[in-house]
Amino acid sequence: MSFIRPDNKVIAEALGDINTLPSNMQMAVKHKVDESFQPVPTPRSGDWLRQHQEKGQTLKSFERTMSKAIPHATFKTIYIQPVGIFNHLRAAPLDVITEFSRVFFAGCEVEVLPAIDFTNSMSHRDNSGVVQYRTDGFYNLLAETRDKRDKRRELLCVAVTMADIYPDDKWNFVYGQASPLDGFGVYSFARLDPLFFKSSNKLNNTPLTDEHRIIIRRRCVKILLHEVGHLFGLKHCIYYVCLMNGANHEIEMDRQPLYLCPVCLRKLHSTLQFDVKQMYENFVNLCEKYELEEETIWYRRRLELIQEKDT
Ligand SMILES: [Zn+2]
Ligand SMILES: [Zn+2]
Repeated sequence: MSFIRPDNKVIAEALGDINTLPSNMQMAVKHKVDESFQPVPTPRSGDWLRQHQEKGQTLKSFERTMSKAIPHATFKTIYIQPVGIFNHLRAAPLDVITEFSRVFFAGCEVEVLPAIDFTNSMSHRDNSGVVQYRTDGFYNLLAETRDKRDKRRELLCVAVTMADIYPDDKWNFVYGQASPLDGFGVYSFARLDPLFFKSSNKLNNTPLTDEHRIIIRRRCVKILLHEVGHLFGLKHCIYYVCLMNGANHEIEMDRQPLYLCPVCLRKLHSTLQFDVKQMYENFVNLCEKYELEEETIWYRRRLELIQEKDT
């Protein structure tokens, strides 16, 4: 599939009229954009944009999307439902993921539920020695356990697991999948471990090196924000290198940054109406606390830029 990189005119159209935005949001989406945001690289064989026709989602088409989460009244809580075991040495850091999600989806509550186990009725298969669970089983599980959550608070509920997952027999695996109509998603952290491909039963007992801890932390936060972003109605981004770019493999996933491009930021802002300066400040504080160095540098610089006098 041939991908045509959007030019400035196409990006301006996707962004829509920004004059009605608060002044710091105007700065966030227009000021020194070329310094902070990179163009999408030409897709190579095996890349997402080679295999999927993405036409891009403008602000207008985002606003028309019906199946998206919009916090309202008491319905502001994103529930995270761990499925299976999370108490081993290499498990995803759910507390860190929760902190980042709370800041990123500003105004929403994020709550981790007690872990539950896989049920016998969940379909699974053996893929070259790796047990994989089919994603529909997680949606059924979330529907069956709805009574355990506060219905008046639930905006979204996402299942997370250390098991590998697949949507149907046509796919080898997926990192995650969203079902926006139900407000459900399921995300697997299995492949985020750099030792996944060397995996064996012993893996869970192998202590993390500092390097691997940071890699896993960064990838877990990224997958969760990207996938929950889909539930907020954000489609895959074609405008810049962005958290919402599609990813087919590890290199593409690692290339996705932990920030939204101006078009995606504007879309999320149109729903959440956050103070972007405050949100960036909270986010950079977490990046610093959890030693995400590249992200700390990016957010600090972006904060400086959006507070410059517009010229
Ligand atoms: Zn995606
Ligand atoms: Zn984007």
